[in-house]
Amino acid sequence: MVKSTSNFIDTQKSELQLLENSEWIHNDIQVFVKRDDLLHPEISGNKWRKLKYNVEQAIHLRAAGIMTFGGAYSNHLVATAAAAKVFGLKSIGFVRGEELNSNSNETLKRCAELGMDLQFLTREMYALHDDKMFVDELKLENPCFYAVPEGGGNYYGIIGCQEIWRELPNDVDHVFIAQGTAATSCGVLLGIPENCQLHVVPVLKGFHSIKTMKSMFYGFFMEDEMLEELLEKVTVHSDFHFGGYAKYTPELLQFIQETQQIHDLPLDPIYTAKAFYALNQELKKPLYHGKKVVFIHTGGLQGRHAIAAKENISFFG
Ligand SMILES: *Cc1c(COP(=O)(O)O)cnc(C)c1O
Repeated sequence: MVKSTSNFIDTQKSELQLLENSEWIHNDIQVFVKRDDLLHPEISGNKWRKLKYNVEQAIHLRAAGIMTFGGAYSNHLVATAAAAKVFGLKSIGFVRGEELNSNSNETLKRCAELGMDLQFLTREMYALHDDKMFVDELKLENPCFYAVPEGGGNYYGIIGCQEIWRELPNDVDHVFIAQGTAATSCGVLLGIPENCQLHVVPVLKGFHSIKTMKSMFYGFFMEDEMLEELLEKVTVHSDFHFGGYAKYTPELLQFIQETQQIHDLPLDPIYTAKAFYALNQELKKPLYHGKKVVFIHTGGLQGRHAIAAKENISFFG
């Protein structure tokens, strides 16, 4: 008997938390956080939404396991290892960096503990992770494994993210979300209500949000006009990367501590803190007065960030 993936990790468990401060109350702005970080301790936030239909597909195809790709601190790798274990599947993780091993950090240690077979690739090899020929070769070497791209950003991943709208009010005016590969934001955009704007906060410096989202949608065979119309709902906030991917400043760390104190909301320095910082800055503008805003908390509190958040210590070191 196959366990039903949808009941096993119930996304409805992710509550909608009301956030308040005197400024927002004064300006009649309602702010909610969709706490996807609370979905599961290791299948963090948006990673379950992206994995759900991939896991179902792997089970449907009677695969022995799932193979995927990630960096040394990848939230997606841990999430995949944990999800595979929950559903009785094996997992292989192709990790960026041949100098690493399964003891290099908390994330990789945890992946190994969860039974993931970690294989360390050189940066040159890892750069081919989206190359069809390279992936086909890996499939030949691991014939019973279902391949999921880095970050879970394929068709099934995007569809899984679209489903978040089943759990959100449909009179939302603005949604804010952190953007890595853009798969999650594409899914959220697919399901967006008529009069809602999507605000994406890329955490990579110089990331081409719209171009990347466009190419992700090619697999959906949407008409050009429809795609353009959809993308018009997107506002990109590209000045909140704090130096680039995995970079952060003392100011951002301070912001994390303040947010924890003011809102009882834990944030990670790689993704969610940057997006929530952007939201805070944006909401100072009059155009948000009287509006309903949702921040999607995509998780990210695993490994060293989980430890730092719990002990309220600095993320440096
Ligand atoms: C992976 C991740 C993201 C980025 O999601 P994409 O679908 O790659 O854009 C955002 N936030 C957190 C916490 C993540 O772990």
